[in-house]
Formats: sequence, C-alpha cells, structure tokens
Amino acid sequence: MNTTQDPIEKIVIVGGGTSGWITAATIGNTFKNTNLQIELVESEDIGVIGVGEATIPSLISILNSLGIDLVDFIKETQASFKLGIQFEDWHTIGEKYFHPFGTVGKSIDGYDFFQCWLKAKAEGDNTPLMAHSPQSVLSERGKFFLPFAAKGTPLERAFYALHIDSALTGKYLRNYAEKLGVVRTEGKVEQVTQSSNGAIESVTLASGKTIAGDFFIDCSGFRGLLIEQTLKTGYDSWDKYLPCNRAVTVQTKNVGDTKPYTVSKAQDAGWMWRIPLQHRTGNGYVFCDKYVTDEQATQTLLDNIEGETIIQPRIIPFTTGMRKKSWDKNCLSLGLAQGFIEPLESTAIHLVSKTIAYFMRMFPTKKIDQTLIDEYNRRVRADYEEIRDFLVLHYCTTEREDTEFWRWCKAMEIPPTLQKKIDFFKASGGIIPGVEELFQPTSWYAVFDGMKIEPDSYNPTTDSWDYQKLKAILDKGKQGLIDIAEQQPSHDEFLKQYCPAPKM
Ligand code: FAD
Repeated sequence: MNTTQDPIEKIVIVGGGTSGWITAATIGNTFKNTNLQIELVESEDIGVIGVGEATIPSLISILNSLGIDLVDFIKETQASFKLGIQFEDWHTIGEKYFHPFGTVGKSIDGYDFFQCWLKAKAEGDNTPLMAHSPQSVLSERGKFFLPFAAKGTPLERAFYALHIDSALTGKYLRNYAEKLGVVRTEGKVEQVTQSSNGAIESVTLASGKTIAGDFFIDCSGFRGLLIEQTLKTGYDSWDKYLPCNRAVTVQTKNVGDTKPYTVSKAQDAGWMWRIPLQHRTGNGYVFCDKYVTDEQATQTLLDNIEGETIIQPRIIPFTTGMRKKSWDKNCLSLGLAQGFIEPLESTAIHLVSKTIAYFMRMFPTKKIDQTLIDEYNRRVRADYEEIRDFLVLHYCTTEREDTEFWRWCKAMEIPPTLQKKIDFFKASGGIIPGVEELFQPTSWYAVFDGMKIEPDSYNPTTDSWDYQKLKAILDKGKQGLIDIAEQQPSHDEFLKQYCPAPKM
C-alpha cells in the first residue's frame, strides 16, 4: 500500500446556503492539518432559500463532531428544542399523533417492547403507545429535560434536535469555516469550463475572476448550476408519489409558550408547519398546485397562523425527487442541488450531513475511481428512497375523503418498497431492517399507530408473559415517565435559564 498519491489540492464549493457552509465546515474541519485549499463562492444578489428550520437529532451530532459549543450555537441561532413532530388532522380531521425522536419503551426481559405493548393492547389495555415515549410525555406537558441530569432516569433515552433560524445558522457556520481557513469569494458564477472528458476545470465570475479546482461541490440550490446546468445528469421526479410542489411561507411573532416540537397540520391540499424559535415562529403551507392556487394556499396559511406576520408570504416552487447522479465526474452535489424531498420529516439538512459523511469515507484522489462514484450514488439513492417511502406512508394511510387531494392520497399508487414494509408490518408487527437507515422502528411504529394501521397479531413469543404481570410492568414504566417529566422545567424556563438568545 502506498501513501496518498496525487491528492486533491483544491476544492471549490459553489453556493453559501446551509448546505454550502455545512460542507465547508465539515471538510475544513476534517482536513484542518493538511494543505487542502477550500474556496466557497456565493452570490449575495442571488441569496439563499431562507427556509429549513426544523432539524432532527443528527444536527446535534454534526455540531458535536465539529466541536461547536451547543449552548453558544443555540443562543446565536435563536434556536429552540425539538422532541418530535405532532401530526394533526392527517388520519381524519380532529385526530392527532406524535412522532418522537429516540425510542419508545425499552425491551422487557429481552422481549421487544413494541411486541409487549401490542400484546397488552390485544388483551384490552388501551394505554397509548406514546405514553411510553419520554419525548412525547415531555412534549404533552410543554417540558424540556436536563440532559446532564437524565442519566439513570427514563429520560436518558430521550433524543432531541433543534429548531434553528436558517439565516443565522448559515452565518454561524460561515464564521466557523472561515476560522478554519476556508476562503469565501463573493460573486456570481457566469461560466463553467470543462475539460475534454467533461470534468469541471474552473468557474468564472461576473467580475471576470476565474477559480480553478481539482474537485467541485455544487451547493447552488435548486438550479444545480454544475451538476445539472453544466453536467446535465438529469433529475428523477417523484411527483407521482409526493405530489406537493409548492410552499408558501411566512414568519410570525411568537404567541404563548414555545412548544418543544414541530407541528404538522394537514390542510385541504397538503399540510402546514409551525416551527417555534426563540425570537419568532416559522410557518409554511406545503401544497399541490393541482388542487389549490397560490392565492388560496396563502389565504389558508394566513387563516391558520397564530401571531402577527413579520414578513410578506413567499411562494417557493419545488419538485420532489433527486438527481440521477449525485456525484458525476469531479463534481458532487449537495443540498437542494442534490435533490429535494418535501420537509415533512425535516430531513434535508440531515441528508446534507449524511451524504458528506459518505463522501468523507470515499474521499477520492485526483484520479477519482469510478467505483467510489458508483457506491456513493447507490447509497445516496437508497437514503432518498427510504425517506420518500416513509413520507408516502403519512399520506397513503389517510382515511380523509373531504377534499380531492386527500381522496387522491387515499387511493394513490405506492412504491413497491413501501408496500413490502407495510405488508411485513401487518404480518409480523415488525419492521424490515435496513442498512444505515435513518428511520428506525420507533418512527415507523409511531406513524403506523398514528394512522391506525395495525398488525394482524403480535409476535407469539410474547405469550410467554402472563398478561397481568406484563401490564404491571408497563404501568410502572408509564407512571415513572410521568413522574420524572413533571419534575422537569418548562421548555421556556429551560431556554431562559440555560441558553437564552439575545433579544432581536
Ligand atoms: P440555497 O439556500 O438555495 O443556497 C444556494 C446558494 O448558491 C446561495 O448561496 C446562492 O447565492 C448560491 N448560488 C446560486 N447560484 C449561484 C451562482 N450562479 N453564483 C454564485 N452563487 C450562486 N430542510 C430541513 O432540514 N428542515 C426543514 O424544515 C426544511 N424546510 C424546508 C421548507 C421548504 C419549503 C423548502 C423548499 C426547503 C426546506 N428545507 C428544510 C430544505 C432546506 O431549506 C435546504 O436543504 C437548505 O436550506 C440548504 O439549501 P442549499 O444550501 O442547498 O440552497
């Protein structure tokens, strides 16, 4: 084996949105003791998309891996905590359910918790599944917990993520990356030069400046300046499974307590999010333009928000899907340039970090072995398809028939990979395990249960339990969670005491 031959000496990142700066920060941090140069080009005239404020727990892992102080980050990005998502009106109007992070319950003497809960249910116990989720029990009470004091209590199983201000997050990560030596260049890329084999050689800005590199990362947003406009890799649209193709967004002043969860409320032709931050609330209605106009969607959004608006509503069009090749030649695409799955489960920022992690594992030399490209693209596709299927589950299991949109969802064609998962769940009460998948069984159980999809029976091994004994254990666990949750500070108290953001 040799030492690295012909290493990449310069990476050029086009785009300074959340994905551009996460990429710059991660690569800059990983290569901090080498001569690798990183230059990021962004255009203030074009700007960033300015949405993307709900995250999942992997954000905390990213921040930890970058050595970023969490409290400092929370204060600077006006962040609040997120324990999961509350889904309202998805199954039928008036019904709601909670999708928590982390696990629900823990195995009982080696028997899978969910199967034990199913057995208790079959025996007549009507305790909701979420009574065994630390995040759900805390959320119901508007509480947050003291992570440093949770050890040895049922709360140690609680995971959390953040709601963040996307503009402030970009600023924070830019500052971090620049300190690592990443060079930021302001300017609009107007021309891209390719070599005879199609690889990208350089980008030229409106100012006339040319920036050459060995490897290029396209973080230019939906336009995919390098991956699509230059390399023409193509895009797979998934609108036959996820037809929402527009969002209208607006920010409002905060009203009442800051909830430690995202709200996703189904509407006539899609769903609406509510994301509370310390200084304001982000709201948006994701909809399908086949069923409502921009004006109708905007009116629905304005009718459903809680506080006074602080900006004008803005329409954002999109197509759910992904690039046919996320990595092509010497160009990687990340963020919106790579693909987009509507933000129902807040997965976009996670996908940026997860796919950079793949790239780090398969980091090339100047030679760029095609095997790396193929394996990377296979994994990225598997991740996107997994998330797509999980999102489709939220729609296709609806019992709503009150609008054309929901009637379409109820009757929709679903991906065969999802159908297999649903069939397996119905037959066994279990989930087909995948490799490095984002959504673990708890997530699937939460949505199956919330959407009232039941297995035919529980796993017969659970019949080893005497029901009364099992029920006593379940009841004790449930009460233990309530007791410890009651002792925790409210989410607002927690923020005020440990991580208050500056007034804006
Ligand atoms: P952008 O923010 O669009 O940045 C593109 C960058 O490229 C900008 O800096 C721009 O200046 C630059 N650029 C473009 N063209 C040129 C050029 N010619 N020359 C120089 N620079 C150029 N994600 C989540 O994780 N959670 C959510 O809750 C969530 N909600 C969303 C809601 C909606 C409606 C949408 C559309 C997206 C949502 N996302 C969410 C996704 C999230 O917004 C993005 O993943 C994230 O903001 C990253 O965007 P980006 O950096 O890829 O692109």
